[in-house]
Amino acid sequence: MSRTVIHGGLVVTASDEIHADVLIEGGRIAALAAHGTDPATSWSADRRIDATGMYVLPGGVDAHTHMEMPFGGTYAADTFETGTRAAAWGGTTTIVDFAIQTMGRSLREGLDTWHAKADGRCAVDYGFHMILSDVNESSLKEMDRLVAEGVTSFKLFMAYPGVFYSDDGRILRAMQRASGNGGLVMMHAENGIAIDVLVEQALAEGRTDPRYHGDVRKVALEAEATHRAVQLARVAGAPLYVVHVSADEAVDEIAAARHKGLPVFGETCPQYLFLSTDNLAEPGFEGAKYVCSTPLRPREHQEVLWRGLRNNELQVVSTDHCPFCFSGQKEMGRGDFSKIPNGMPGVEHRMDLLHQAVVDGHLSRRRWVEIACASPARMFGLYPKKGTIAPGADADVVIYDPGAEQTISAETHHMAVDYSAYEGRRVTGQVRTVLSRGVPVIEDRAYVGHAGHGTYLPRGTCQYL
Ligand SMILES: [Zn+2]
Repeated sequence: MSRTVIHGGLVVTASDEIHADVLIEGGRIAALAAHGTDPATSWSADRRIDATGMYVLPGGVDAHTHMEMPFGGTYAADTFETGTRAAAWGGTTTIVDFAIQTMGRSLREGLDTWHAKADGRCAVDYGFHMILSDVNESSLKEMDRLVAEGVTSFKLFMAYPGVFYSDDGRILRAMQRASGNGGLVMMHAENGIAIDVLVEQALAEGRTDPRYHGDVRKVALEAEATHRAVQLARVAGAPLYVVHVSADEAVDEIAAARHKGLPVFGETCPQYLFLSTDNLAEPGFEGAKYVCSTPLRPREHQEVLWRGLRNNELQVVSTDHCPFCFSGQKEMGRGDFSKIPNGMPGVEHRMDLLHQAVVDGHLSRRRWVEIACASPARMFGLYPKKGTIAPGADADVVIYDPGAEQTISAETHHMAVDYSAYEGRRVTGQVRTVLSRGVPVIEDRAYVGHAGHGTYLPRGTCQYL
């Protein structure tokens, strides 16, 4: 079995910061030992990685990505190949992407389609959630089978009428099923029926610029849907995970539910923590780059999101990576913001942006690792294989240089998209080397991985229940 030793670094997990060497054997973490101790100095190895002055982190787990997702007549620009490569560049070694059930078709057919897209193409490991677009007797039965085989989470939409939207009755049925089979319902919580009325009125009045995307998708309509989702989950006796929480009042709803002891969890994304409606209002058509749903909010929401992450009102930061090129894709919405494909690139920069939050004092180092690695792994049944550095865990390891300075730019990023939402932003901290199951994928800032190294991960059920 091949053996690797990472020596001299500071191992940071969700629970500890340990000055320790790490022994990797056959793709898994075999042992940790304090620097300079007998065990550490006696380890023989085929490869030694000097991590002096570096952090040694578990690989990031991005539990919300949409590679090559169809939306509004086009496809998200990253394939599983380019998207997982970009993820690796940014220190993310596991993604959980969303397979989509097409209206009128089975869950199985959707899942097979996504397997075919990803199989043999990924640079790092991947799993799937399932988007439930058509809740009926047969798709409800299929949920049980999917949970049993490792697709244990199901996303429903209170937004996008006519596309992914489910009414309250369908949502309740899916939640009831999940309460029996151990599945976790993930909710896009926005009142899409009301939003569509506001969209129609805005367009009729000539308010067509990207900024109006943020205007019509009101905070109150995110908060109301979040509240309703919590109550439906409560009635069904099911756990609930609210995706991409962007508004202060939605955080309040989740916090209130958790305070009552309900199994309700919240996710936010870097775009809500670092960007705002100021970006949506950028002149010309530039604001289209920042069109995603839920939308960016006024700046004052950011502090509430940071506080929520510190207080564990929010548990996970994922990217909702769903990139569309400015040229040719975002441009489909010139003169009509409702035609701008919803989504932003981000899979490459989540770990770095959250490290910047450590530098800025929003988060501790251990909380950084928790919300970016350990909690998503636990939430979606992958822990401790993923999300930590401990004996027996997969050797998904990031050697992170906390003092390196970098400027985020489309010129240098690796995502297959022609702009960066963080263009020109200076951040402190950068990935140096990334191992996936002990195999180098990034080595001293060079890509040494390959498509097909990444394997599919059947998942267990939520480990917070
Ligand atoms: Zn999404």
